[in-house]
Amino acid sequence: MTTSIPHTLIIGAGIGGLTAGARLLQAGHRVTVLEAHVYPGGCAGTFYHKKYRFEAGATLAGGFAPGGPHARVAEMLGLTWPIHPVDPAWVVHLPNGRTVTQWTDPQQWQAERQAAFPGTEPFWQTLETLADISWDVSARPFPWPPESLHDIYTLARALRPKTLRALPYLRRTVGSLAPNNDPLFRAFLDAQLLISAQTTSQHANALYGSAALDLPRRGVNHVRGGIGALAETLVHWIRQNGGEVLFRQQVTHIEMKNGRAHAVRTNKGLRQEADYILANLTPWALRALLGEHAPHALAREVRQREATWGAFTLYLGVDAAKLPPTPAGHHQIIRDATRPLGEGNSVFVSMSDPNDPSRAPAGHRALTLSTHTAVAPWWQLRTSDKAAYEARRAAYTERLLSAAEVALPGLRSATDLVLSGTPVTFAFFTRRPSGMVGGFPQESILRARGPSTGIENLWLVGDSIFPGQSTAGVTLGGLRVANLVLHLTQRRKGGNFFPPGLRAFA
Ligand SMILES: Cc1cc2nc3c(=O)[nH]c(=O)nc-3n(C[C@H](O)[C@H](O)[C@H](O)COP(=O)(O)OP(=O)(O)OC[C@H]3O[C@@H](n4cnc5c(N)ncnc54)[C@H](O)[C@@H]3O)c2cc1C
Repeated sequence: MTTSIPHTLIIGAGIGGLTAGARLLQAGHRVTVLEAHVYPGGCAGTFYHKKYRFEAGATLAGGFAPGGPHARVAEMLGLTWPIHPVDPAWVVHLPNGRTVTQWTDPQQWQAERQAAFPGTEPFWQTLETLADISWDVSARPFPWPPESLHDIYTLARALRPKTLRALPYLRRTVGSLAPNNDPLFRAFLDAQLLISAQTTSQHANALYGSAALDLPRRGVNHVRGGIGALAETLVHWIRQNGGEVLFRQQVTHIEMKNGRAHAVRTNKGLRQEADYILANLTPWALRALLGEHAPHALAREVRQREATWGAFTLYLGVDAAKLPPTPAGHHQIIRDATRPLGEGNSVFVSMSDPNDPSRAPAGHRALTLSTHTAVAPWWQLRTSDKAAYEARRAAYTERLLSAAEVALPGLRSATDLVLSGTPVTFAFFTRRPSGMVGGFPQESILRARGPSTGIENLWLVGDSIFPGQSTAGVTLGGLRVANLVLHLTQRRKGGNFFPPGLRAFA
């Protein structure tokens, strides 16, 4: 590059990419973010339709409590998030008609779980101890999985004596710690883990799962204007501080030179060179942008990995006066504990804050309903039988509405507007291949995917890298990659983060 200020280019304005970009900008990099869509946030975006602002995917905003990932970013950048906490976090509706309220208040939650699932208290106590360790570790730079000696050095510095108490649980699953005599309890755990770890208790790693199940206790928030306002806040900060965020610029190629990622080209004819490139993408998408230059390991990875989950979503415009009163803005409904979850058998319902006039016309509320779904059947029907694809869309719409009516009786008659989203819709709006969302199932901490791509100045950010999905998770991943880039920049300048004696780690 011609100037001595390093230029970092970010492909995609998801929360992971924007967070990494903001951190690098603050540290003195020139930063350009290229976003294919007309607004930021990707899976955690908010879109406008007929006077409603609908949350496209993510609706639960966690990680804002002191020490949490978003709180750290706010402190680091000096910005304020447009949020306010809610309690209860959400209500789970079990198939036998019982409800379990996920209180944020620790005493209320303890009383609730003891009443709902007698005899499980020792399990919850273990889980909370593990969660405290996981959250404590994640409050410091924690480059997991380590990909360099510098990462190992940073990890060693992040460990505390109490961290060692987690070691026996490294290979355990949540299911191996949980009592197994109540199918409803298992269904309860599985439904929570599916939305937070992309897998169920039998497979979810205990350390990861403990932090995921602890989300309500860590605090859940409403975001004013919808969850997309988080990404908008970051875009605003980046622009105000001299960075660039360009919309309607879909990167179509990454150019290589001397084994390094050298420049990108977009569908609008823009070409930008950079010193470092961060791809806020899945490995599948990155592989496509690299074409014949994709390293063998990346090409093999995308050939061998199983498809991850997709989502089926409904966006409802609803007459608020016709909805029953409910203490919570979020509900999770499990229809049948004997059948696999997802595919409409477990549904998450989120309602806009009634006190947020920006989300819906007066007297109305914007709702997002979602369920996990396998992506392949949608694409098969879409290409082979369009009518069957539409029939499946209609059947899933029915399933989600009837599940939601368990929590909100009368919902159908209160609904003025219905939009639906399949994996095909998600592929179009988030550019994620096959509409695969949510990252990889968190089954093994030891086999977690890191940010490396096999190209020395190109990394992944976003929910494909550890710690995976959620706005809080991709924020941690984004900070990790930003630190990594800063370390390399420092090294190029001849500096060294290591104290004398440990310089060999550089
Ligand atoms: C239905 C659903 C519900 C969810 N619920 C929650 C929840 O309640 N709470 C929570 O915290 N998380 C939730 N998540 C997960 C969360 O939304 C994601 O893990 C997170 O937002 C992913 O962020 P990311 O950084 O990986 O970027 P993404 O969201 O994947 O965004 C990537 C961005 O890159 C852009 N892009 C892609 N390709 C290109 C290209 N070639 N050129 C330019 N731009 C490109 C896209 O347009 C997009 O804006 C949910 C996800 C879904 C799908």
